[in-house]
Amino acid sequence: MPIVESGPIPQFTMAPARKGKPPTHFADLDSAQRKQAMKEQGYPAFRADQLARHYFERHETDAAVMSDLPAAQRTQLVAEFFPPLLHKVRDLTADHGNTIKSVWRLFDGAMIETVLMRYPNRATLCISSQAGCGMACPFCATGQGGLTRNLSAAEIVEQVRLGMVAAERGDLAGEATRVTNIVFMGMGEPLSNWRQVRIALHRLIEPPPSGFGLSARGITVSTVGMVPLIDKLADEGFPVTLAVSLHAPDDELRNPLIPLNSRFSVAQLLDAARRYFERTGRRVSIEYALIRDMNDHKWRAQMLADELNKRGRGWVHVNPIPLNPTPGSIWTASTPQAQRVFVDTLVAAGIPTTIRDTRGSDIDGACGQLAAEVKRGSDRAKKAAQAVAAAVKEATA
Ligand code: SF4
Repeated sequence: MPIVESGPIPQFTMAPARKGKPPTHFADLDSAQRKQAMKEQGYPAFRADQLARHYFERHETDAAVMSDLPAAQRTQLVAEFFPPLLHKVRDLTADHGNTIKSVWRLFDGAMIETVLMRYPNRATLCISSQAGCGMACPFCATGQGGLTRNLSAAEIVEQVRLGMVAAERGDLAGEATRVTNIVFMGMGEPLSNWRQVRIALHRLIEPPPSGFGLSARGITVSTVGMVPLIDKLADEGFPVTLAVSLHAPDDELRNPLIPLNSRFSVAQLLDAARRYFERTGRRVSIEYALIRDMNDHKWRAQMLADELNKRGRGWVHVNPIPLNPTPGSIWTASTPQAQRVFVDTLVAAGIPTTIRDTRGSDIDGACGQLAAEVKRGSDRAKKAAQAVAAAVKEATA
């Protein structure tokens, strides 16, 4: 059932950007807000549903094909309600055309990325929730640049619509297809932009003409550990999958690896993840980038299994992510032998574990491959790397 959001209706203007903010777009508004915006702009309220059917059912924003709208109003309506938010900068393809990474420029020059991936029985789109990221994880290229700004709900929804258009147009190798799965694993920490991500989730999940009508079960929201917002996500009542980017089972290592951990410890994070499972019935994914001699020890795999089993059985799945080998860097791939031991230790402890597919790794498009992109020359990256190396040495001495 469509969920109507409360709160003030965003001021509707003729598309110019509000100071520092993108222009308000049709996809920022819920059904009631759209009708009211129509009336305020001097159109009958039912135009809102007509536009919604073009946008959410047909993924269309071209006035020329909206033949059910009066010819004299079409261009004006589209200009007012569908201001262009994302401008394609370039596409990079990999995996024989089965993966496309797209770089987009936003109204203020900020850049974001999406990755569209075809699998045998589904097409998945990886989207960004922020331009940059303020979480400063030292192994991540995005984190090194800091946060530029939060994306608006419509900037998130537009990534999805444009990904759908690309899949339906046949941009991926093989036949034209439909996007079935969305993962919030691109730029940014989705839960630190919760207000806009929440609105975007409504647009993705609500049935047309309110939203795209995607299955909540096909949507994954990742977090590095915004504990209170994990509970808020559960409050929404969407059975989306929660993916926790854990990368270490102990605070000693996780504190320098994920600075947010000094606010919310591993124990608090895993307790919140378990609560999420209890409230939604959705098995939680634990993402774990395997970094050589840093977090890939057998004893850490055992510690991870113990921490998960302590909180019950059958509620969690671990996805170890192999990094690209980067000789000479402290952020390099675990040896195949270490990967095997890590996985075997988890499996022996009864934890379902699958090495994650790192699709698009040759274009830095895979979420776990961000380390490969770290700007190693930057002072910030060097200092962060030194801090983690020192913490690892101390913890393993
Ligand atoms: S790993 Fe995720 S949360 Fe950490 S800096 Fe990178 S994008 Fe942000």
